[in-house]
Amino acid sequence: MKIAVYPGSFDPVTLGHLDIIVRASKLFDKLIVGVLNNNIKSPLFLVEERVNMLSEVTKGLPNVEVQSFSGLLVDFAKNNNANAVVRGLRAITDFEYELQMAQTNRILSEQVDTIFLTTNIEYSYLSSSTVKEVAMFGGDISKFLPKEVVPKVLEKYNHKK
Ligand code: ADP
Repeated sequence: MKIAVYPGSFDPVTLGHLDIIVRASKLFDKLIVGVLNNNIKSPLFLVEERVNMLSEVTKGLPNVEVQSFSGLLVDFAKNNNANAVVRGLRAITDFEYELQMAQTNRILSEQVDTIFLTTNIEYSYLSSSTVKEVAMFGGDISKFLPKEVVPKVLEKYNHKK
């Protein structure tokens, strides 16, 4: 069975992430979306909230599972018997960091290879941070996010006001 992990902060999950999830789920028998429980960045959503949003938007994809993780990505992959890591590449600016990460992970574990999916052009500009910025200033975020996620982001910013 071919198992891959797709790691990220997903703060919040965007249509760009979802596109990568749908496409990667067709390439592997099982895809585990790994939500990074990262205490360095200060996320808008708690890790449990991010897991719940991802579970909701992927509920129609039977071979996709969502889990949170902390620590090394290669350990998370190994613990789930995954030998591939999926990452999305939007633009050349993503490349340098992604290459560095992929090579570091290869050195940490030869069993884990990183597979890059290039973004759907429609979403190549899209990032969670841009969406948060637009939301903060009251802009329309409905074109960027799965419909279930839009009210959750708006709610966060209404609470902050
Ligand atoms: P991180 O916190 O690791 O940067 P993100 O949650 O921002 O993670 O993104 C997770 C993964 O999804 C990364 O590989 C990122 O390049 C990819 N990604 C983010 N936005 C898009 C998009 N619009 N199209 C394709 N891939 C994307």
